[in-house]
Amino acid sequence: MTKRENEEAHVVHEEAIPEGLHFLVALLNTRYGRQKRLHDAWPDRAAMERWLREQGLITAEVVVAEGEYRRAIDLREALRQGLRRSSHDATTSAEALETINHIARHTLLKVQFTGPTQARLVPESGGVDGVLARAVGDVYTAMWTGLWARLKVCQNDACGKAFYDGSRNHAGVWCSTRTCGNRMHARTYRQQKKRNGSA
Ligand SMILES: [Zn+2]
Repeated sequence: MTKRENEEAHVVHEEAIPEGLHFLVALLNTRYGRQKRLHDAWPDRAAMERWLREQGLITAEVVVAEGEYRRAIDLREALRQGLRRSSHDATTSAEALETINHIARHTLLKVQFTGPTQARLVPESGGVDGVLARAVGDVYTAMWTGLWARLKVCQNDACGKAFYDGSRNHAGVWCSTRTCGNRMHARTYRQQKKRNGSA
């Protein structure tokens, strides 16, 4: 494989997120990055309430409770942990699974047939519970359709942004080859140079 082919194999088409993952990507990316590059759309309860309203996920009269805010954050971070497939930390993974199962136990979903050959899971409750149910339903559906395997979290730990891996060989590891990919390449190069220099 030439250098160019290798780079192309890792290209991530950010625009081409399949519909079944739109909501999950938006949810996961309410927070990513660190320090100066931190993006946080849900720094507190009120901000999350605003975001949910802007996305049309809750109606104007819904007030987000502090407990609901915490549950939504817990689910988001547990899903992110679940997507860090390269991590072999069994304890963290088990904790994440427990969090997801705990939230899933309290969600109400029903099967809705949308055509002769199509069905989907839809939340039976409104408010934040409905939003969490939708997330759980979307994860379940994505697992069955194989889309889940293409949903990833950027391997640059300082980033952690969720992205759809549209690369040919499913080998994408960075949210963007232009930013995180370049940064990680540069870091590896510097580390190698340092090692070679000191050897
Ligand atoms: Zn990234």
